Amino acid sequence: MKCPPTLQSEEARLQALADHGLEGEQALPSLDPVVRIAARMFGMPVSAVNMVGSDHVFFAASVGVGELDMGRDVSFCAHAIAQGGVMVVPDTLQDERFHDNPLVTGPSNVRFYAGVPLLSPEGHAMGALCVLDDRPHDDFSAEDQERLRELARMASDRLELHRIETSSERTRPSFDEYAGNSTTPVVWFDEQRRVVAINTAAAALHGYHPAECVGQPLDLLLAEQEYATLREGIARAVAAASMQDLQIPTEVCGRRKDGTHFMLGIALFIWRHNGRLRFEAVLKDLTAQRREEDDLRRQASSDPLTGLANRACFYRRVQDALLSPSPDATAAVLMLDLDGFRDVNDTLGHAVGDGILREVAQRLARLAGHALFEAHQSRGPIAARLGGDEFALLLPGIGDPDAANQLAQRAISGIHQPITIAGHEVRVGASCGVSVAPLQAHEALELVGNADLALSQAKTEGRGRSSVFVPALRMAAVARRLYGMELDRAVDKGELVLFYQPQVHLEDGSLSGAEALIRWQHPQRGLLAPAAFLPALEGGPLAASVGSWILDEACAQAAYWRRNGAPSLRMGVNLFGVQFRVGDLATEVLATLARHGLPPDALELEITENIVLDHDDVVPDVLRRLRDQGVGIAFDDFGTGYASLSLLTTYPLTRIKIDRSFVQGMLGSRREASVVRAILDMARSFDLKTIAEGVETEAQRERLCSERCGEAQGYLFARPMSAQQFSEAYGLEALRKASA
Ligand code: C2E
Ligand code: CA
Ligand code: CA
Repeated sequence: MKCPPTLQSEEARLQALADHGLEGEQALPSLDPVVRIAARMFGMPVSAVNMVGSDHVFFAASVGVGELDMGRDVSFCAHAIAQGGVMVVPDTLQDERFHDNPLVTGPSNVRFYAGVPLLSPEGHAMGALCVLDDRPHDDFSAEDQERLRELARMASDRLELHRIETSSERTRPSFDEYAGNSTTPVVWFDEQRRVVAINTAAAALHGYHPAECVGQPLDLLLAEQEYATLREGIARAVAAASMQDLQIPTEVCGRRKDGTHFMLGIALFIWRHNGRLRFEAVLKDLTAQRREEDDLRRQASSDPLTGLANRACFYRRVQDALLSPSPDATAAVLMLDLDGFRDVNDTLGHAVGDGILREVAQRLARLAGHALFEAHQSRGPIAARLGGDEFALLLPGIGDPDAANQLAQRAISGIHQPITIAGHEVRVGASCGVSVAPLQAHEALELVGNADLALSQAKTEGRGRSSVFVPALRMAAVARRLYGMELDRAVDKGELVLFYQPQVHLEDGSLSGAEALIRWQHPQRGLLAPAAFLPALEGGPLAASVGSWILDEACAQAAYWRRNGAPSLRMGVNLFGVQFRVGDLATEVLATLARHGLPPDALELEITENIVLDHDDVVPDVLRRLRDQGVGIAFDDFGTGYASLSLLTTYPLTRIKIDRSFVQGMLGSRREASVVRAILDMARSFDLKTIAEGVETEAQRERLCSERCGEAQGYLFARPMSAQQFSEAYGLEALRKASA
C-alpha cells in the first residue's frame, strides 16, 4: 500500500479547512443532496464527501457508508486531492497503491473508486467527492468524470456558502479573549441552553464560581418563573436561526446560588458556531438601578416630611382601588384634620410641629397596617398626608360605614394619645370624615369629596369627632353653591336683614342688650334663618363685606335705640372668621363705633372657639387692642368645644355665653347642671360676666337666677325680631330708617 503524498501547501490547505468551519469534523447537512445524487447518478452503493484533515479523514456527507476507520493513510481521497482532475481506480485490486489497503481487503471490500478534489477559492484541495463500489468498473467514461466534476463544483459551492456563513465565527475571538476578564457579566450558551462559557463577573453575580456553571442549564441563573418564557424564546430563535422579531424579555428575575432573587437585565445575541446557534447573554444587576427608580418614584409620590403618600399618590391609589377588577370592590376613605394644630405650631415652634406631624403619620401608617416605605407600592391600605395638617386613609375592602367609622374613631383616639417631643408632652385632637364605596360613591373624586364633606360636618359638630357621609351633606353643599350664587344678588338687592334678640338682666328682667342675628328675606322662599345660608356665606367671598355691613348696621341700630329710650343698651354682634384675616378689624370696629357716636362698651363682639382656633395667629392681637379700648368680647357657645377652658386663660374676654345645650339640659341632668354651675364659678373667678343662651322656660330662668347667672337670652323673653318689632316691644321711639 502506498501512503498518500503530503502536499506542499499542506498548512494553507488545513487553514482553508478551518476557514470553512470544518475543523470540528462534523457533518455538513447541506452536502447530503450532493452525495445522494452522485450515488444514484452512477448507480454506486456509496458516495461521500471526505474532508482530509492533517491525519484524519472525515465524512462531511455520505450515503451507504458503514462503520469506517478513516486514517488519512488509508484514505483513497487523500490520494485524490493530490492530483488535478478526477481520480478513477477501476479495480483496486489491480492498483499497486490500493491492492493491500484495508478498505479493499477488509469487510468494506472497496473495488472501485472515483473521486474529484474539492477546492477552496484559493485552490486548496480540502477533500474529495467520491463514489465507491464493491465491484470493479472499467466503464467509468470521460462523460461520467465530467458529471462527477460538476457535482464536485456543486459541493464546492455549498462549502463556500458554509464558509461565508461561518466567517463571523472565524473573526469571533475566543470567550476568554473576549469576556474572560471583563467586569461585564457575560454567558455563552448553546441551543440546549447549556452554559458553554461564563466569565467570573457573571458567575459572581449569581454567587457562583465559573466552573460551577459551565455545562449546567442556563436555568441555574434564573428564577423558576422565567424558565418557560426564555425556553420558548430560545427555541423559536433556534427554529428561525435568527433573533429577529423575537420577544425576548430584557428584564428577568435572576436567582443567586443562595436562592435569593434579583432583577436581572439581559441582552441576547446569537451567532453560528459549527453550524449551530450560539447565544451570548450580557447580564446586568438591576438591583441598584431599580432601587434608584423606586427612590425617585417614592419621592414623586411621597410627602417628604412624613414619608407618607402625598396627595397625588393618594388620589391615584383611590382610583386604583375603585377600578379594581372586582365590580363590587369596597373601599373606605377617611379624611382627617388635626384640631388646633396651628396653635401648637405657633406656641411650641415649627420643629415640634413637624415632629407631631411625623408622629401622627407613624400612627396612621400603623393603623393602616403598613410600613411607611410600602405606602407607594402595594395595592393595600394607605395613609397619606394631603398637606398642612390634613391626613387621609384609604382602606380597601371596607365598605360598611359603621366599620369605617369605628376605624375613624380609632384613628382619632390614636392621634390623641400624648406625643412627647423635645421634652414637651403634647396632645393633638383630630376630626375625621368618612365615606365608603360603592355604597356612597363609585368614583375616586366623589369618594374623597364625600369624605371631605363629612369632615367639614365633623368639625362643625365640634372637635375630636368623626362623621360619616350622608347624602344630605352633598345636597347641602350643592345648596351652598346655589346660595353662593344667589347671595350675590341678595347682597346687591339688600335682601339681607338683621333681626334682634333681646338680652335681659335675670334679677329684674330688664333689657340689657340685643344680639344682632342675620336673616335673608328671600323673594321666593321667605325669611331664611342663618342655618340655611350661613355656611355658603361664611365659605364664600362675600363674608368679609357682609360682616362689615352687619357691624355697621347693628351699631347704627344700637346708636338709634340708645338715643331713643334705651340709653345703656349693649349690642352683640357675631363675627366671621375671615373678618380677622381681611383688613384691620380693630381699626374698622373702632371707626364704626366713632361713626355712630357709640362708646366702646356699647358693643359686644361674639366669637366662637372655631374662630379662635382657626385664626389663632391673628385673633389674640386684634381682640387685645379692642379690649384695651373697652369693647366687650363674648365667648359664644361656651362649653361646646374642648379647648374652651384653656382659651379662657389666654384670651382677653369680658363675657361667657353659656351654650343653650347646657341650659336646656340643666334641669334634667345632674351632669349638665354641674357644668353650668362650674362655668358660672369659673367665670366669677376670672372676673367675667355671664349670659345664658336659649332660656325657654320659667324653671330654667329660676334655676339660673339661683345660680347667680347675670343675664339671659331666649324664647322665654323674646324671639329674634325685626328692628321695628323690637322698638314696639320695648317702647322705643319710632323706627330708624334702615340704611341701605
Ligand atoms: P348664636 O350666635 O348662638 O345665636 C343664637 C341662636 O340661638 C340664634 O339662632 C337664635 O335664634 C337662637 N335662639 C335664641 N334663643 C333661643 C331659644 O330660647 N331656644 C332656641 N332653641 N334657640 C334660641 P339663629 O338666629 O338661627 O342663628 C344661628 C347662628 O348663626 C348664630 O348662633 C350665629 O352663630 C350665626 N349668626 C346669626 N347671625 C349672625 C351674624 O349676623 N353674623 C355672624 N357671624 N353669625 C351669625
Ligand atoms: Ca351669638
Ligand atoms: Ca350662641
